[in-house]
Amino acid sequence: MRHLTGRCSLLLALGLCALVACHPATAPAASNAAPDPAAARIRADVRLLASDAMQGRETGTPGFERAADVVVARFRALGLQPAGDDGSYSQRVPLLKATRLADGARLDVVRRDRTIVLRFRDHFLTEPNADTVDASVRAPAVFVGQGVSAPDLKHDDFAGLDLHGKIAVVLGGAPAAFDDDRRAFHASRGEKLRALAAHGAIGAVFVDTAQDEATAPWAAQAANWDRPQLRLRAADGHAIDGLAPLRVVARVSAAAADLLFDGSGHTAAQLAKAAQDGSLRGFALPLSLSLAARTHVEPIDSRNLVARLPGTDAALAREAIVFSAHLDHLGIGAPVDGDTIRNGALDNALGVAITLETARQLHDAKAAAKRSLLFVVLTAEEQGLFGAQWFATHPPQPLVADVNLDMPMLLAPTRDVVPIGAAHSSLHGALQDAAASLHVGISADPFPEEAVFVRSDQFAFVRAGIPSLYLDGGVVPGAASIGKRADATTVPKLAQREFLRHCYHQPCDDVRQPIQYPDAARMAALEAQLALRLGNAARAPQWNAGDFFGARFAAPAPSSR
Ligand SMILES: [Zn+2]
Repeated sequence: MRHLTGRCSLLLALGLCALVACHPATAPAASNAAPDPAAARIRADVRLLASDAMQGRETGTPGFERAADVVVARFRALGLQPAGDDGSYSQRVPLLKATRLADGARLDVVRRDRTIVLRFRDHFLTEPNADTVDASVRAPAVFVGQGVSAPDLKHDDFAGLDLHGKIAVVLGGAPAAFDDDRRAFHASRGEKLRALAAHGAIGAVFVDTAQDEATAPWAAQAANWDRPQLRLRAADGHAIDGLAPLRVVARVSAAAADLLFDGSGHTAAQLAKAAQDGSLRGFALPLSLSLAARTHVEPIDSRNLVARLPGTDAALAREAIVFSAHLDHLGIGAPVDGDTIRNGALDNALGVAITLETARQLHDAKAAAKRSLLFVVLTAEEQGLFGAQWFATHPPQPLVADVNLDMPMLLAPTRDVVPIGAAHSSLHGALQDAAASLHVGISADPFPEEAVFVRSDQFAFVRAGIPSLYLDGGVVPGAASIGKRADATTVPKLAQREFLRHCYHQPCDDVRQPIQYPDAARMAALEAQLALRLGNAARAPQWNAGDFFGARFAAPAPSSR
């Protein structure tokens, strides 16, 4: 969650008023002088999917279902083959909706001479537990640094520590010495939880640092304490995450952190600094923790939407190239400037609309690809990539690549795209060919610190061993901006930074932003070119030799390929 400056003051500050606020809702896109039918179709779909009628498309709500019906209608109108369950376009995704209850949440620091009772919301939050509605645990505590086990980088925060039957106390992040991909991977909460469970911990307490507080203020987290979390649901009704050994997981605010380290000879600030300079070591804490969490758990079903353009080659058509984009967003939340609906226009109505346009162009193309092409509009991305995880592990046919769109930040004219994660596999070469054929430039990720490759749906495909690529909007100013004043209307990176700071996941990510629909149409054309190249290549996409993600997740290649 990010703090939001009011939309009006932001727009005035950026000089965007002329482009946005002063146009009536029906005005054509400011930069779109020549009518471009593809741009107009994308714009119409964004305006529909991000309209207030869709109520922010939260997974499990009527608003999401309405938006899903729109996508199904588009698939049908395009004449695409249904590739969901039982001859439909919908693939059921079984979920658990877990909501923490304030009553029964407990975190006590138990020392020999005294017990300190921390206050729920002020000092700590428990995580919802989708497997155990009433969980409690009391055990000695061990500080495990950042909880990172990376033998390939000769780094092991667990070395010399015995976590069996203990409660782990852990900091966020990963060592600064790691490259962006490895740091992002090891900093992810899911990886940390898996590592803690694998080392025998029965509970975990994440401790916020001053740095965490700066990027994700505790007050904002605490204000949304009752927002539900989702998990995938197995046939036996339990959560699919393998984290059951961790009976209670909690988070402690930076302000309360020293209550855990008192008497250890360290302060939270010293430990956070040691984490930054690479000298952090774990140790047993001179205390026990008593943790309890109560959770309201409800099974719900959502759906992915799946359509196919069948391949033309009898053998290669068994393999599929996936074009994915998530449909869900954050629904309704606390009001900001009187607006409660998180419409999610960039995130990710735009990605879905571009994917639909890609499908249309490929359907209308004279030559079909030899491999099958799947267009997959996913659910439950925002809470943890669950729709993508379900699809990648329950595909209608073998998947050989994923090209994902999520929140393309097309807010000022560009002439390029940013392919994130392409460099891990042969997808990079195919993308270069496709981009060159359309005179589209390729640029490096302008915000590597955002670590988006492991934060959106393509990562669920990566975890399933499938080479993947995340296409984002470009950073090179477009021809329309040449000779104009450099500001957020002409400099893409400036517009993107402002968006990330103020409107990401907030009500102002709506259709009043200066979305560059001609650039969106170009992205659809690029995806279509990429689809033909990947679909017709003799060899399916491959991870690069020795690649970090390929080595970690890919099964050995079958001998037929
Ligand atoms: Zn998104």
